[in-house]
Amino acid sequence: MRIFSGIAASPGIAMGRLRIIDRSRTVVTEYPINSDSVCHETSRLAQAIEDTRAELESLKCSLAEKSGEDHLFFIETHLMILEDERLVSEATEIIRSCLINAEGALRRTLHRYRETFAKIDDPYLRERFSDIETVIERVLRSMSGEAVEPLPQQEGKIIISANDITPSDLLQINRNDVLAIVTEIGGQTSHTAILARALDLPAVMGVDGITDLLLDGVAVIVDGLSGSVIVNPDQETFQSSLRRKQHYEYVEYELLKTAHLPAVTLDGHSMYLRGNVEIPEEGASVLGHGGSGVGLYRTEILFMNRASMPDEEEQLVLYRSMQQAIAPHLLTIRTLDAGGDKLLGGMDQTGEANPALGVRAIRLSLSMPDEFKKQLRAILRVSADGPVRILFPMISGMEEVRTAKTLLEEAKRELTSSGIKFDSKIQVGVMIEIPAAVTLADLLAREVDYFSVGTNDLIQYTLAIDRSNEQLSHLYQPLHPAVLRSLRRIIQAAHGAGIPACLCGEMAGDPLYLPVLLGLGYDELSMGAGSLLRVKQILRRCTLKRAARIAEGCFAFSTAAEVEMYLKSQITLDVAESID
Ligand code: PEP
Ligand code: MG
Repeated sequence: MRIFSGIAASPGIAMGRLRIIDRSRTVVTEYPINSDSVCHETSRLAQAIEDTRAELESLKCSLAEKSGEDHLFFIETHLMILEDERLVSEATEIIRSCLINAEGALRRTLHRYRETFAKIDDPYLRERFSDIETVIERVLRSMSGEAVEPLPQQEGKIIISANDITPSDLLQINRNDVLAIVTEIGGQTSHTAILARALDLPAVMGVDGITDLLLDGVAVIVDGLSGSVIVNPDQETFQSSLRRKQHYEYVEYELLKTAHLPAVTLDGHSMYLRGNVEIPEEGASVLGHGGSGVGLYRTEILFMNRASMPDEEEQLVLYRSMQQAIAPHLLTIRTLDAGGDKLLGGMDQTGEANPALGVRAIRLSLSMPDEFKKQLRAILRVSADGPVRILFPMISGMEEVRTAKTLLEEAKRELTSSGIKFDSKIQVGVMIEIPAAVTLADLLAREVDYFSVGTNDLIQYTLAIDRSNEQLSHLYQPLHPAVLRSLRRIIQAAHGAGIPACLCGEMAGDPLYLPVLLGLGYDELSMGAGSLLRVKQILRRCTLKRAARIAEGCFAFSTAAEVEMYLKSQITLDVAESID
């Protein structure tokens, strides 16, 4: 028996035989060339890129036939990376200056990108590197003449392991034949992980070297809850994993039966529970888990890994498929929340010393009003099809809201003059995730239709704790008294101005915090689809009155640890009472 550790990328436990797909990196030999061969090598590179493009186009056609147009976004992303001039020019420059062959130059280019991306703080943006790696590997394969081994079809139930499994691979497999996936690259927020969760497919990613060390047919347990892969499990481990699997599936099954039940407390108080999504494929999962629409649609993916900004039509197509996926429920579309150095392939490092405090989110959008208006027009156009609201990220003051709203009005006028329909009363909200916005919440509340609290950033900026720094994770405390006081201030300001407040950070998806958020008065929580049923279960067992008392009680303590202990004791008390 041997245990490999990786990243728990999609929950669930699966047991079965491993099928290893040879997606290992293409073996590349780098050799010197003389200057007469530079032209030959650059045209070999151009040809390989052209062949890869043709391959992806044909994959796009066959996938369109199989699963419809909605799923082609990933291939579009890969095509855009191929079209990025910088990829070719960097590799060509290396051929010329280092006098080496095209394959060697491409490998070195990949290596440079790897180094650049490794420096990016935000794990979500860092993981966009996997798309670039996938594309360059495809080009290298094309140069080597090796075909990309397709994922197996109709082999019975198997667990697939490969160096990399792309989102388009996942869309091609027969979901019923594949029990789980294990990859060497990728992480929690890679496109493949997001899609695996949307497909309810257990996944462990980032398991270094697993495909080199194992053989086809070996028995494995993939634990997508803990992020481990157990190879050749002994009897005892097998039995305990089986019990864990049965327990997990039983609880999921029982919870799923409650998906249609209203999100309402024992004393009749309703709360909206909505989903956080990044791709249209997640819409079905949100609805399947009983979510009443989308409280946060992160639009960043469309803007990553590409040479130019997406135009209005391209955005419209994507937003429309998201809207259709959750119709007739509400869709909250957040405008671009990315940093300047991380856009357009993440290749342009502007050298900001503190990207988290740099040109990002609304600041970036306001710095390029024409691009921002393209996004606003695309969002407005979708609002003609069903309920849609707009959300501006990282607001720090009134000027930003007012300028963003002025641009929104301009976008509306432009559409009106072109005779294009939209919801003229579209709701506009701001994310409260910067301490300044908390302090100004009473003023901001007069300018907008709703608040959405981004606790991931709010905690980071309130406590000065980098949200992606693992060494500081013990200090990243949602129950820190400063955070709780901010949450109370925000809701008081919202309700004082008669507007609702949503909370859409990770905190919303943890059932432990539900009594506090409910008790403080939050009207809506938005979370990953996988958390909806558990949070609703707790909500349905609470009364608003009791939650308000619990929330109030939290303010008597002066450290996060004390608050947590108090909260847990109150919940234990409630469970004990309900058993009595
Ligand atoms: C947040 O900051 O809590 C949030 C929801 O936004 P993101 O995680 O995308 O920054
Ligand atoms: Mg945020």
